[in-house]
Amino acid sequence: MISTINVTKSYTGQNGTITVLGRVNIKVARGDFVAVIGRSGAGKSTLLGVMGGLLKPSSGEVFLDGKSLWQLDQRARARVRAQKIGFVFQNASVIRSLTVLENVLLPQTFLPKPVTPDLSRATNLVELMGIESKIHAYSDQLSGGEQRRVAIASALMNNPSLLLADEPTGDLDTETESEIMNFFLDLRRRGTTIVMVTHNYQLACYADRILEMDSGSIVELSPRTEACKSSDFSSPLPNESQANTEKESRF
Ligand code: ADP
Repeated sequence: MISTINVTKSYTGQNGTITVLGRVNIKVARGDFVAVIGRSGAGKSTLLGVMGGLLKPSSGEVFLDGKSLWQLDQRARARVRAQKIGFVFQNASVIRSLTVLENVLLPQTFLPKPVTPDLSRATNLVELMGIESKIHAYSDQLSGGEQRRVAIASALMNNPSLLLADEPTGDLDTETESEIMNFFLDLRRRGTTIVMVTHNYQLACYADRILEMDSGSIVELSPRTEACKSSDFSSPLPNESQANTEKESRF
């Protein structure tokens, strides 16, 4: 589905050059749910930006469905992004002047061919995220958690095959956190590929694979279940039957 080949990213400033990503090679198969963990500043968001076609690598390639993302011109890359990739940004990217419903519908306007707004899908996504009572509210009427739910619904609007999520649960309470993680498990069961960046080792245990980043290098923690039993990951493994199948059937 998506792979990075020898991806590097450096920044040059007044104090010299810093290397944020050093020859990162990862391969994510279709339908995988992969967590990328690591301390703050390890390069996780940078990696996600490069994989999502938002941040140009200094060298290396990113292949999405066999096509080199960074060999495409800007317009073609934007088209691929709109059609295939849903991005949940670290700071829930909700547009203040739009309502919840309008925010969720917005990604349709980025599709290469104009489409009739799919109100039914947008409404379903809003319901699925449990914010239907706020569907016509503006962002200043929403809590941080509700804004994050809007951002996730919006990222899913174009039915992306790849969801890239940067700290999707941010500073949310643990109940909302596990609801969102169970929702990701539902998505994964339907075939959506997910790459989630988090500094939270416990959340990473919801994923099928865990990659750990440190100073721009990446290693796979293997096997994942063993890692999740260690003291760093002190939460129990999630039970997939917790996932809400009633909500699932409406999606
Ligand atoms: P993480 O997501 O793991 O917290 P980031 O990918 O956000 O880490 O950042 C990795 C490092 O890259 C940090 O040290 C950060 O300061 C640096 N960095 C990110 N963007 C830039 C930039 N535009 N210019 C210079 N340094 C940057």
